[in-house]
Amino acid sequence: MSEQANEEVDIILYSAADGVATITMNRPKYNNAQNGRMTYELDDAFRRAVADDEVKVIVLKGEGKHFSAGHDIGTPGRDIHLPQERVTMNYDHSNKPGGEFLYAREAEAYLGMCRRWRDIPKPTIACVQGACIAGGLMLAWVCDLIIASDDAFFSDPVVRMGIPGVEYFAHPYELNPRIAKEFLFTGDRMSADRAYQMGMVNRVVARDELADTTQAMAEKIAQMPRLGLALTKQAINHVEDLQGKRNGMEAAFAWHHFAHSHNDLISGDKLGGHDAKSMAAENKKQGS
Ligand code: ZN
Repeated sequence: MSEQANEEVDIILYSAADGVATITMNRPKYNNAQNGRMTYELDDAFRRAVADDEVKVIVLKGEGKHFSAGHDIGTPGRDIHLPQERVTMNYDHSNKPGGEFLYAREAEAYLGMCRRWRDIPKPTIACVQGACIAGGLMLAWVCDLIIASDDAFFSDPVVRMGIPGVEYFAHPYELNPRIAKEFLFTGDRMSADRAYQMGMVNRVVARDELADTTQAMAEKIAQMPRLGLALTKQAINHVEDLQGKRNGMEAAFAWHHFAHSHNDLISGDKLGGHDAKSMAAENKKQGS
């Protein structure tokens, strides 16, 4: 069976019980690399959870060994060239030339989606094991809480592509600026324990306790009144935006796209000639 045919079912799993919706990325063969299809089905699942009055809290998981290896830059199911039915006020990217192609795509599918998900009016919890890399970080970061297993690690190695971090540029908010620079300059993996020390994750637990700890936290929060939770989330997100988070991301997104276009001019490739394989090989060589 081809990868595409394989993936016609259940790339995102959804279940809801006891006030908690669980949304699971289900591409374990590719470490839950996010292609366009996964992104849009994730959006559908989040909307479903928001619309269901029985759901108070949303948990986001990744099936298999790793939470997410990031955006799909090299699996057989990569579908960046295909048009998508858009959910933000952006036009189709797939027939556009030059820098417009990726700018329109990422304004919608990366920055646009992440902002939508970050402002979901219900608490969200990322349940992270194994790798949480680049685009995977974006998914964890848009959630309100992050619970990690002790084998989880976090990295954003895209500086290797000449790109100043992933599209949802929350680094200086998730980490203090000096640590964020080290994280980006080196591309090194940050362990779950270090991420906990930095305040980036809320709890670190053994791998076999991850699901239960996350569920218990979700059920506890689900006892709170819906509007109280929504307003609390809105208040904190608003303060972050007053501190410059949203505007900072706008500037970083522009620099990010200058880098994509520069790469294209120099090498004919917006990722500077890198794909998943070459990035993994380079990261290994550097010992990160
Ligand atoms: Zn990009």
